[in-house]
Amino acid sequence: MNKNVKQINDKLFSMLENGITPFHVVLDTVSQLEAEGYKALSMTDEWKLKKGGNYYINHNDSTIIAFHVGKSTDKKAAFRMAAAHTDFPCLFVKPSPEVNTNGYGQVNIEIYGGAIYNTWFDRPLSLAGKVAVRSKDAFKPEIKFFDAKDKILYIPNLAIHMNREVNKGVEINAQTDMLPLIGMLKEKLEDKEFLLSYLAKKLGVKKEDILDYELFVYNPEKPEYVGMDKDFISAPRLDNITSCQALISGILEGADEKNIHLIALFNHEEIGSGTKQGAGSLLLNHVIEKIAAALNYNEQERVSAIYNGILLSVDVAHATHPNKVGKMDITNKPVLNGGFCIKAACSQSYATDCEGIAIVKGLCDNAKIKYQRFENRSDVRGGGTLGSIASAHTPVKTVDIGIPMLAMHSAREFMGSEDEFALYSLVKAFFA
Ligand SMILES: [Zn+2]
Repeated sequence: MNKNVKQINDKLFSMLENGITPFHVVLDTVSQLEAEGYKALSMTDEWKLKKGGNYYINHNDSTIIAFHVGKSTDKKAAFRMAAAHTDFPCLFVKPSPEVNTNGYGQVNIEIYGGAIYNTWFDRPLSLAGKVAVRSKDAFKPEIKFFDAKDKILYIPNLAIHMNREVNKGVEINAQTDMLPLIGMLKEKLEDKEFLLSYLAKKLGVKKEDILDYELFVYNPEKPEYVGMDKDFISAPRLDNITSCQALISGILEGADEKNIHLIALFNHEEIGSGTKQGAGSLLLNHVIEKIAAALNYNEQERVSAIYNGILLSVDVAHATHPNKVGKMDITNKPVLNGGFCIKAACSQSYATDCEGIAIVKGLCDNAKIKYQRFENRSDVRGGGTLGSIASAHTPVKTVDIGIPMLAMHSAREFMGSEDEFALYSLVKAFFA
């Protein structure tokens, strides 16, 4: 593997290990940005921005927008923007989660996003998220971020002897078949609120002071290379940390100083984006308005800056599956290590139009970056992503792109080991 490709994959591996929940994706992003001099801004303050300045906004701990004001920007500057998402399908812990089943301690969960249920079985799992603890001011609970680190949870399969039909496909019920096991209820687990007690002890707070939490069950396995020539990467959360990391590296290395560069990592793409921290919120518009105000744009100049803008919507794509080739379109069949994908659909489930595609192709051709085209089969609805949702509020030219992968939404996903470099190179060229 070429040294530059390996270096970009190392960064990806680090973020895959750190980004175990959307909160932790944001924490990792903040630490990468702050190491390069990015400063935090609050949406409730009046902003004073400097030319050449680097800033970020952390919204509700799970969405982050970062931007660079070019050193030689003037009022003709455009917003060059790229967006991705911080969330991924997983299991989400409910309130009053403790379940006692014949002495087995279990945790009551619901499913977040479109997970492939069976991939969560038979692997050690862990728990992480955000916890709100009582403080003196009821309007400002203390926020703590939590990672159990230890592999405390497990969902065992039923033996084949108890279901001889298992290899013909099994229906999995989210409420009755998916509850992870956390321990046997003897002595130390006799406490009815055993999960809350565990959490309180780990956080060093009183159990009764934990007012609420957003806890996710996550796959703690490390990313790994696979294949005789390390052609592949197997890891949890490739959708969509591949895009988050490419955007961060891309903006940090962007060389253009005439325009305003912005990356937006939104939460809640996997559940439709229509939330206060999703791509369907007005957050991006408000950030643009505040940037324009801080740079003394008048109304006319602000609107022109947006309409001169462009948005890369970056999310994973489907590669051709070697055992299910017929699931792909008949002429657009991306493969692993063929470069990132430009995704289009006339339904506009992908926001891309021909002018946007021409721009991305031009950038790729100039910098010799590999890319492929993805289209759904005409008889399959396929997925969607945040591009069309974000650009309905911020009507800029939008192009949907992303890394081709297999096993999308599995607890462990699969990609080519050269494609992150292609995506990173494109984002860097976009900001160059
Ligand atoms: Zn995605």
